[in-house]
Amino acid sequence: MSATEKSLRSKERKMAILHDPKRLQELMNRMRLKGRRIGLVPTMGYLHEGHASLIRAARKQCDVVVLSIFVNPTQFGPSEDLDKYPRDMERDEAIAMAEGVDVIYYPEPDSMYGPGYQTYVTLEDLPDTHCGESRPVHFRGVATVCAKLFNIALPHKAFFGQKDYQQCAVIKRMVEDLNMNLEIETIPTVREADGLAMSSRNAYLEPEQREQALCLGEALNMAAEMTASGVTDAGKILRAMREHIESKPEARIDYVSLADADTLEELETITDRAVALLAVYFGKTRLIDNKVLTTG
Ligand code: AMP
Repeated sequence: MSATEKSLRSKERKMAILHDPKRLQELMNRMRLKGRRIGLVPTMGYLHEGHASLIRAARKQCDVVVLSIFVNPTQFGPSEDLDKYPRDMERDEAIAMAEGVDVIYYPEPDSMYGPGYQTYVTLEDLPDTHCGESRPVHFRGVATVCAKLFNIALPHKAFFGQKDYQQCAVIKRMVEDLNMNLEIETIPTVREADGLAMSSRNAYLEPEQREQALCLGEALNMAAEMTASGVTDAGKILRAMREHIESKPEARIDYVSLADADTLEELETITDRAVALLAVYFGKTRLIDNKVLTTG
């Protein structure tokens, strides 16, 4: 084992931490040859219960669980929070160990995007709306890093959170379009007891912002209640959602949307394939959330 690699042991089990993509790829190739089913959970670290639920799903369904922790520079715009994105590797290692991760893949940016790097995955339409409007390079970075992680970790299945709904749509589209040989599973959003979707970025919120951030989940619940009670006029539902969020002085709406669950095209009339999505700023912190709607 090289100096940069590490193996953590508890009484019951062992977890490897690998930095080198080639090493991980070789190891996973060997796992595949032994007939082991590989599950990948891609993250940017600073793990919380949302990440843990993805790891648990992977643990249940796969023989080998790989957790990648990589704050991927290509998915951040120039004025975004790449440098101050929260990190705590020691805590992440402890959580990963407790949740039964077999391998943490923790690459250096240079090993993912070395000198001369020039290959990116871009999708035509899906990344242009919603989060893509205020984060124009984001989904190119996400699709690229996921394609790379799929090639490095060779998973049979990769696990993503519904919290990042557009990300899931982009990844599923890419996997389908490029005939990638893996399954994508979407795991429901894990929330704090008061309803706020868990996110590493919640750590940025001031107490008052944290309190007012509950309006995201509340607005989504309003949409769900309205559609369940038979309202199909998207404009009416959007107005109610916006009004509720705008009543919070710290909140600044980026977008509120009712869209087709697959294509994310904006809906005028709610169908049985609708999702409510929103992004709201509290100060510089941008929070997202969504809810799949059922019609009454
Ligand atoms: P991140 O570290 O924020 O890039 O997230 C890594 C993975 O965890 C992504 O697939 C996210 O969608 C997922 N995730 C983040 N927050 C949650 C949550 N609250 N519930 C479920 N999954 C989540």
